[in-house]
Amino acid sequence: MNYIKEADVVVIGGGVVGCAILRELSKYKLRSILVEKEPDLACGTTKANSAIIHAGFDAPKGSKKALTNVRGNRLYHELQDQLNLDIKWLGSMVVATTAEEMATLEELLSRGIANGVKGLEIIDKEAVLSKEPNLTPNVQGALWAPTAGICWPFGAALAFARCAVQNGAEVLTDCAVEQVLVEDGKVVGVATSQGAIQARYVINAAGLYGDAIAASAGDTSIHIHPRKGEYILFDKTAAASLVQGIVFPTPTKTSKGCLVCATTHGNVFIGPNAQDMADKEDLATTTEGMNAIIASAKKLVPTLPLGASITEFSGLRAVSDNGDFIIEASSVHGLIHATGMQSPGLSSAPAIAEEVLEILRELDDTLVLKHDFKAVLPRHKAFSAMTRAEQEAAIAANPLYGRVICRCETVTEGEIVEVIHETCGAKTVDGVKRRTRAGMGRCQGGFCGPRVTQIIARELNIPVTAVRKEGAASQMFYDKEAAGGKD
Ligand SMILES: Cc1cc2nc3c(=O)[nH]c(=O)nc-3n(C[C@H](O)[C@H](O)[C@H](O)COP(=O)(O)OP(=O)(O)OC[C@H]3O[C@@H](n4cnc5c(N)ncnc54)[C@H](O)[C@@H]3O)c2cc1C
Repeated sequence: MNYIKEADVVVIGGGVVGCAILRELSKYKLRSILVEKEPDLACGTTKANSAIIHAGFDAPKGSKKALTNVRGNRLYHELQDQLNLDIKWLGSMVVATTAEEMATLEELLSRGIANGVKGLEIIDKEAVLSKEPNLTPNVQGALWAPTAGICWPFGAALAFARCAVQNGAEVLTDCAVEQVLVEDGKVVGVATSQGAIQARYVINAAGLYGDAIAASAGDTSIHIHPRKGEYILFDKTAAASLVQGIVFPTPTKTSKGCLVCATTHGNVFIGPNAQDMADKEDLATTTEGMNAIIASAKKLVPTLPLGASITEFSGLRAVSDNGDFIIEASSVHGLIHATGMQSPGLSSAPAIAEEVLEILRELDDTLVLKHDFKAVLPRHKAFSAMTRAEQEAAIAANPLYGRVICRCETVTEGEIVEVIHETCGAKTVDGVKRRTRAGMGRCQGGFCGPRVTQIIARELNIPVTAVRKEGAASQMFYDKEAAGGKD
């Protein structure tokens, strides 16, 4: 077998879980490589979810979900400063509007206390409405969880990966794993779309495709099915008339319910619903789904400003057979699964990474910690967040900062060029959008999309027709002449 690279550990999947694992691995004297099939990190479930760092009262005591959620929440509090994570610790509310729902709040409170969640309390109607004046007057009370927060999931995944790279790990994008290679019952590497990579250990963090990765190694113990959640996003003008923080209804059996929630960037969203699917790629939003989440959200906030909605999107939860996370060593020696992460997988990611390392240490007692692990990432300030004096200094140092490309979000050419060339830099229009917010405003890229495409083509030295929006076949422009005039 010709190997294009040699590693000790290959992590499959660049979602928040895989990236957090890569960072944890980079604390050790190991050659670690993360491979992601998409052109960018966090293009799977990590890109479309509610972005909440849950407190940890939902999952049953002793489940992997509960244990890693509570620990993960604490770790995010510690990591926020080191990794410049965009997190706002707003606290969350589960709102009850009937006596039956008030009884459910008591159950959630006891479960949360058993799980070790700090600061939980049931607050009365007056306290709820003083925090969230736009909620329905039918509210009777709420479970208040002060340790919950909202984050920017893409930013978290990117920060984990960049910290890992800063400590010697490698990230390969546009690199799909076709098979986990096994000899004599032991992992020896992975076959990828870019060639084979040798490795003693493989971590399966492939999200929805965790079962396919396991099966390629001969381990058929895992099954993952997709469960869709749809959302509506409102522009920033709607925020004042909706909610200030995180507002859940009382949960259903399959989901935490359709919430009304702020984002770290000052928008507000409603959603998600929960629909079991057959297709792992079906991210379509539907009229039925939109109607369902609007009806559900209106029960919490009766005056939804629907005219201020700017986009709809959906995400797919990776649901395992028993509903809990799969974090375990495979029957194939050297393969470790970290998959089946529905909510609260984002909240749990740093704790899942610790657990994976524990399993790896059980398989290999020769792992050695580095003494020079660099935990802190360099800080960046968005042009739009700079003072006038800082903006003038930035433009004086680099005139590209004086050219605004995205008018809705005031993103400059200087920032776009920077994120294309930074560690784990952007290769696609959506990659630029997620790193800078260019295209995330009211016009959703209508003005800046073509300019961003042009800048990517120039900086990566590729034709404009090769620039992708996001995934493999998502070119922004099509060269009709080169194709002989055919559409
Ligand atoms: C509707 C919804 C709401 C949610 N809300 C929350 C919330 O508020 N809080 C919370 O904590 N959690 C929430 N979650 C859950 C959270 O989003 C996930 O648990 C988390 O993002 C999972 O991350 P992951 O890395 O396991 O998976 P993913 O992000 O899907 O990453 C897996 C990666 O593997 C890659 N991959 C797959 N196959 C291959 C291959 N063959 N070769 C190479 N790469 C491959 C994929 O491209 C993908 O990038 C929500 C999920 C959904 C869908």
